[in-house]
Amino acid sequence: MSESQSSLLPHSPTVVAILTPLGRGAVASIGVCGPRAMEIVARRFVSAAGGPLDAYPAGRVVFGRFRGITGAEEELVVGLVAPHEVEVHCHGGLAAAEAVASALVAEGGVRIDAADWIAQTEPDCLAAEARIALAEARTERTAAVLLDQYRGALRDAALQIETNLRQQDFATAADSLGRLLNRAELGQHLTRPWRVVLAGRPNAGKSSLMNALLGFQRSIVFAEPGTTRDVLTHTTAFDGWPVELADTAGLRVSCEPIEAEGVERALAVVRGADLVLLVCDVTSNWSNEEREVAQTARRVLVVHHKCDLANPPSDGRPVGVAVSSLTGQGIDRLCEQIARALVPSPPEPGTAVPFTARQEALLRQALAALNHRKPEKAIGALATLSNS
Ligand code: GDP
Repeated sequence: MSESQSSLLPHSPTVVAILTPLGRGAVASIGVCGPRAMEIVARRFVSAAGGPLDAYPAGRVVFGRFRGITGAEEELVVGLVAPHEVEVHCHGGLAAAEAVASALVAEGGVRIDAADWIAQTEPDCLAAEARIALAEARTERTAAVLLDQYRGALRDAALQIETNLRQQDFATAADSLGRLLNRAELGQHLTRPWRVVLAGRPNAGKSSLMNALLGFQRSIVFAEPGTTRDVLTHTTAFDGWPVELADTAGLRVSCEPIEAEGVERALAVVRGADLVLLVCDVTSNWSNEEREVAQTARRVLVVHHKCDLANPPSDGRPVGVAVSSLTGQGIDRLCEQIARALVPSPPEPGTAVPFTARQEALLRQALAALNHRKPEKAIGALATLSNS
């Protein structure tokens, strides 16, 4: 018996969950699922057309008035998903959604969170994970990739690899597993922004560049002051890929005399970054500290900054993008290069992308088992991927 079926047993609780990410939409949806779903909602809701709620067929959307916990009424819409599942759609604000959920709990519903709701109502585990991830997606582009996984792209890819393994086509299976794993980093960043750090000497123009990048990107999703004293972060998106831009404003990559602690802190931030924008002033020499940052970073893009003043000198500095935050020159190219450095080959629509640590670990297990000539174990890991 699936979990969703078990929630229909007469004595199982009827659960209530706010399904939409709070404060992120104009409308909030509160799900009610279980044997008393219809009854619990009907105690608080009167349809505008009159008549009991359970007289409407499943699939209908009913407009009416909902009585909150204080007795105040508000107009809203109820969707009858199935006899045991009802959705209440109200104003998207935190207070409105909480008020509806509390009123339903007062009628006997048991409050759970959205992730537990999905786990209980979605028997397909990969689809459940995709729905949970979708609530975290910050851009249309990342949501589209997750929607593909919800519709079965990853499941189909895993099934195909299982078939290859059963047919003893190990080369194809290993190749497909390798390609899936190559997309795992992208997958993890569908819900967690990439971390891009601006590093460079004091006065190289890091804060000016940060402002220029944020100003250029109209699609700022989220902006918040830094959580630490040294690092200011803003969340934005480049070509639809969410990025947390961090300006190491208070950190000194290089200064005279060198503060060992400051340099070490800067290098730690550099090491933790998915991409470092190494901001170098074209009117200053390429220094040892800049070389060290370039060598420490996992990925680095050199920004030849203040290119309105001079051409980048040929003093051994790596190739990069010439940019002026003052005139805006090169900013568009830098934005393109940032997106390309993070996602060199964007997935075509419908491409399978593993997007949780669990999925990645199971795919790695499958590949390792295959490399040890244990195809049955690889099949087991793939089965767990889709079914656990
Ligand atoms: P930070 O210390 O690295 O954050 O550097 P700032 O952003 O504070 O900039 C240092 C100085 O460089 C300021 O006087 C800026 O006006 C100047 N500056 C920043 N970007 C440019 C640029 O693209 N061209 C020129 N000519 N000056 C710039």
